[in-house]
Amino acid sequence: MSLPAITRFAPSPTGALHLGNVRTALFSYLWARNSGGRFILRIEDTDGERSQARFRDDLMAQLRWLGLEWDEGPDIGGPATPYCQAERGAYYQELFIRLETQGLAYPCYCTPAELELSRKLQRMAGKPPRYAGTCRHLSAVERGQHEARGLRPSLRFAVPPEVIEFVDIVHGPQRYDAGDIGDFIIRREDGTSAFFFCNAVDDAVMGITHVLRGDDHLTNTPRQLMILDALGLRRPGYGHVGLLVGTDGAPLSKRHGSTSVHDFRERGFLSIAILNQLFRLGHASDIDGWLPKSDMPKHFRPEHLGRAPARFEDAQLMHWQKESLQHLSVPQFTDWLGQGMGDHDSTIVDLLRPNILLPTDLAPWLTVLRGTLPLFGPNEQQIINKAGSKFFQAAVGALVESNGDLKILIKILKELTGAKGPDLFMPLRVALTAQTHGPELASLLKLMPLNIALTRLKLHAQNI
Ligand code: GLU
Ligand code: ZN
Repeated sequence: MSLPAITRFAPSPTGALHLGNVRTALFSYLWARNSGGRFILRIEDTDGERSQARFRDDLMAQLRWLGLEWDEGPDIGGPATPYCQAERGAYYQELFIRLETQGLAYPCYCTPAELELSRKLQRMAGKPPRYAGTCRHLSAVERGQHEARGLRPSLRFAVPPEVIEFVDIVHGPQRYDAGDIGDFIIRREDGTSAFFFCNAVDDAVMGITHVLRGDDHLTNTPRQLMILDALGLRRPGYGHVGLLVGTDGAPLSKRHGSTSVHDFRERGFLSIAILNQLFRLGHASDIDGWLPKSDMPKHFRPEHLGRAPARFEDAQLMHWQKESLQHLSVPQFTDWLGQGMGDHDSTIVDLLRPNILLPTDLAPWLTVLRGTLPLFGPNEQQIINKAGSKFFQAAVGALVESNGDLKILIKILKELTGAKGPDLFMPLRVALTAQTHGPELASLLKLMPLNIALTRLKLHAQNI
């Protein structure tokens, strides 16, 4: 066992919690749990305009539903309080003053138009655009003049001329020349702190030992390390995991359908199915089979995290859903089916259970048992046509004689028609259920009112 890892999940409450975020939350959670460490929830709500309390409440509700309990967080507190960045503003301001006093940061009065022009000129000269350092060496008089014009400065970090090196937990050794990074903004003109400033500072002051997050943050890391070094704060280890992508290879987003945990939950996916799926996306698991949540920590290996993009596929989630449903007891399953259940007796539910992956799968099967069959598809129609009306005439007689016992029905029908194997079963299944697959036909037939079954067979006995 490794040293206790203090990890965190640091979502911004600016939208619904989605699978990509949850995956890094899961990895961080598992690392804390498998090392006897702590898992911290921190809300990154410095963007006052986009952050909303309802998103914060929702993401906490979804994390709880997934079973990713945190040891410290905004609701339960902890030694590193506060756990919402918006409440840490005064502390950041203190650090800004400190950096400015030490000459490690300076006010920048450049207007957006001036910055845009400068970027344009650099691009035209074939250089990558970065802040030109215009305000770095302003004299006190010049600053005073800008202030007198009513310009509100942002605060820029004065990037030192050095090489930043770190070993990424996933990507291995990294090396950045600070000369390629322009002086960057750590406090915006409106006085709010920039994302990577608070993010890095909080990780350090909260004692986070390992930061796991998406690849998209890798290039932020050298800046964050410079900030920490300048403030004399301890660097956490950083691990950047390959992003979650859709089947088209593009980062998972709305255009791949809904990716929010809330929506998967509404559709009836089990949290353990989602966890089993995410556990294997970008994490080469040493175990192929389904895992209960309690077994996941011991199978989590930080060294098995991958940098290749991980592909999210609905079919895989369905696979884990199927596996997960099998681990539910009868009362748990009935409970999960919830509203869809109605007053259907347990024999029906038992029979249909293997064919139900989502609660909405119940209703069509109830229709098959008691309602009006949907129209046949071309494949189904062909099976019916191929069997022919003679077959169904015999089947009607056999059904009456057998009184709904499939074994007897088959025996009689075989004698009458000479058909056997799929030629015997398939037309019956299709005529009775309008499908070529589904629950065991014998049980279906037993639960189906005899007059309904008769009507369905008679339909094809007449159709010549
Ligand atoms: N609030 C950031 C995000 O949601 C956190 C990134 C990180 O984990 O460091 O992207
Ligand atoms: Zn400037």
